Amino acid sequence: MALVVQKYGGTSVGTIEKIRNVARRVARTYDDGNDVIVVVSAMAGETNKLVALADEMCEFPSEREYDVLVSSGEQVSVALLSMCLQSMGYKAKSYLGWQIPIYSDSAFSKARIEEISDTNIREDLRSGTIVVVAGFQGTDRDGNITTFGRGGSDTSAVAVAAALKADVCEILTDVDGVYTTDPRIVPEASKMEKISYDEMLEMASLGSKVLQIRSVEFAKKFGVIVHVRSSLNDNPGTLVMKEDEEMETVLVSGITYNKDEAKISVMRVPDMPGIAAKLFSPLSESNISVDMIIQNVSHEGYTDLTFTVPRTDFKKALKLVEEASAKIGAEGVESNQSIAKISIVGVGMRSHSGIASKMFTTLADEGINIQMISTSEIKVSCVIDDKYTELAVRVLHQAFGLDKVQD
Ligand code: ASP
Ligand code: MG
Repeated sequence: MALVVQKYGGTSVGTIEKIRNVARRVARTYDDGNDVIVVVSAMAGETNKLVALADEMCEFPSEREYDVLVSSGEQVSVALLSMCLQSMGYKAKSYLGWQIPIYSDSAFSKARIEEISDTNIREDLRSGTIVVVAGFQGTDRDGNITTFGRGGSDTSAVAVAAALKADVCEILTDVDGVYTTDPRIVPEASKMEKISYDEMLEMASLGSKVLQIRSVEFAKKFGVIVHVRSSLNDNPGTLVMKEDEEMETVLVSGITYNKDEAKISVMRVPDMPGIAAKLFSPLSESNISVDMIIQNVSHEGYTDLTFTVPRTDFKKALKLVEEASAKIGAEGVESNQSIAKISIVGVGMRSHSGIASKMFTTLADEGINIQMISTSEIKVSCVIDDKYTELAVRVLHQAFGLDKVQD
């Protein structure tokens, strides 16, 4: 007998009929002799509606009340799923975050889980009850409701699995698993059997939307095995787990793209201590995260600086940079929103050389100009003109031998 945590996303519980399907699958897992904890998101679209209501009510809603509001979607789905399981003859009980409790810090709308009490859940499991937990929400130590950021139910599920020492945390979703790249762009993309935590972290931060980044950090920290799989069939999906030797033999595991960034260049910046701080401090004070940064070799006491910011923050960032650039006596600011970041990811890069140059050659062969490059131990990212995104992903997928052999 195992302890299984299953998390169902919004699309899997989007209608009453779909909730019935989820209940049948949960019941099947229970009938197989497992203890089951289910974590659910709000029904599809509900959280967006709540966010829109808050926006409509006032320009700067109180952060506390915002979380009271946006967490309410999950209250509906846990109750409906529990009712359905009960009507099928199972013992089931719903829990909101504060009822468990799932303790977090007080950073409303992006709170971090600190501690989960296992007392209530253990008692229910002992009595044969299926426990249904509201994802996305917790409570701070003062009893205020908190939420964990959009997509936060993934993190709820992994954290519950860690706290209860579950055997597996299944993330049941509308895709079959984690793919070598976006199958909508490359039909030859294939589902990975397994992927290491570090690779999944890179993929998630580079644009893959399968799992919330924090859930992967949590899984890595506590060694939770995460199984991403379809809620519509029983096919095995992708295991997110500790790195093994087999993973290292693969040069590149996956290719991602991201069109959510924009590029800003500051021209002819006087090259002296403190300049970068003056340029970037206003951005960090406004909570704008800067991603790739390139500083050119200094020429006659001047240098150019180029960096990327999230496209959603572009206008604000540009204004701040223009102000800062005038203050430090730079020549001017140029910007470009039509960029894409293409990345190759794989733990095999640690032990193999020539991977970056193969990426550059592959792009060059297609006449694609590389505007910026950044690397980490297990990834290489290139910024290119966004009109070449699909082409770049396709040729790289092929060049690194990821195209599935068609049978
Ligand atoms: N319902 C929340 C959201 O839409 C949490 C989740 O789906 O994971 O972001
Ligand atoms: Mg999700």
